[in-house]
Amino acid sequence: MKIHEYQAKKLLADAGVAVPRGIVAKTPDEAAGAFDELGGEIAVVKVQIHAGGRGQGRFQEHPDQSGVVLVRSANQARENAERMLGNTLVTVQTGAEGKTVGTLLVEEGLNIANELYLGVVIDRESGGPVLMASSEGGMAIEEVAHKSPEKIFREPVDSGYGLYPFQATKLAFRLGLLGQAIRSAGKFLPKLCRFFLDHDCSLTEINPLVVTEEGELVALDAKVSFDDNALFRHKDLKELRDVSEEDEAEVRAGEAGLSYVNLDGNIGCLVNGAGLAMSTMDLIKLHGGEPANFLDVGGGADVDQVTEAFRIILADKNVQAVLVNIFGGIMKCDIIVEALLSAYDKIGFSVPLAVRLEGTNVELARQMLVESGRDIIVATDLTDTAKKIVATLRA
Ligand code: ADP
Ligand code: MG
Repeated sequence: MKIHEYQAKKLLADAGVAVPRGIVAKTPDEAAGAFDELGGEIAVVKVQIHAGGRGQGRFQEHPDQSGVVLVRSANQARENAERMLGNTLVTVQTGAEGKTVGTLLVEEGLNIANELYLGVVIDRESGGPVLMASSEGGMAIEEVAHKSPEKIFREPVDSGYGLYPFQATKLAFRLGLLGQAIRSAGKFLPKLCRFFLDHDCSLTEINPLVVTEEGELVALDAKVSFDDNALFRHKDLKELRDVSEEDEAEVRAGEAGLSYVNLDGNIGCLVNGAGLAMSTMDLIKLHGGEPANFLDVGGGADVDQVTEAFRIILADKNVQAVLVNIFGGIMKCDIIVEALLSAYDKIGFSVPLAVRLEGTNVELARQMLVESGRDIIVATDLTDTAKKIVATLRA
């Protein structure tokens, strides 16, 4: 689950991590009022969306307007807010359709001496969290990782204790910090790692982490995601969810207990089991098609789930064919076919549908499909299914 920058900064501040003073604004007047309340000469108006790259991003309605703007008066704050609120910002992370802006964060402008990068993520190799740091802050860290990986320093984070003091000092030296900034890092880095652990994060990224003229480390940006599987332990965090930022179909699927990820292709997939879903997508691609989604209905898919799954797949305008791939292990194949046919009749299919079944009672199930009289391609193995469904698009 992702949250907004302003929410992340509130949580970070509560955990003792230094962040700039800021005020949330939902109207141009509130933005102007926030500038006055902050009381400084400079403030920064920042759009709040679940995507980064806002500083480089541009509005569809105002091609010169960026998503992060430095302002020097209440009036400037108001004018920028007017161009931002209700409009659509496109960044490298939003896709071409962009995201509509409903909330702004107005923040005190800091005297930045240096911009660094910090990120805590789970390292799959070591099976634990790792703190990554780089002096190349502010820009796309993916590019740094690609072009000059030696500029990214990594320290494993003890999942019980957190970051040890010696590790913080080591990183501070590697980042080239001096004097007060080293002392500041000695507090900032362990607190950030503690935050990651205490909130069951999957990501805590500070880009940029700034060193002020006074030698203090401050989180200028904050991107936080929580591990969905641990959210049951954090009832208070669940309330921070903003479904308007999430993919509509994915939210709907989540409510039906389905694992669904929207993709760019045109072949809708309904599969039981995540591994099977992955290999189904691979085979579609191998035979020249493009999957429209990942969808795992789980081991015990019933009529309601299968019906909802079909509805979600068919609601995607890009879907021109549907492939069903079910292994009847926990569920018997004939039960699945019953659910399938009932769902088929309830929604009515306007695109080709190919079904591949394997497992318990598969003979009976195939016979039921063939004799059903519905326009369904009954395939034998997975390769055969993938080929047949891709062929329907070429016909
Ligand atoms: P994004 O990563 O989405 O582009 P950031 O929060 O990183 O958004 O802001 C982009 C840039 O704007 C930062 O690298 C920094 O140079 C500047 N900036 C952001 N907030 C402030 C602030 N409070 N004071 C001064 N400069 C800021
Ligand atoms: Mg940033």
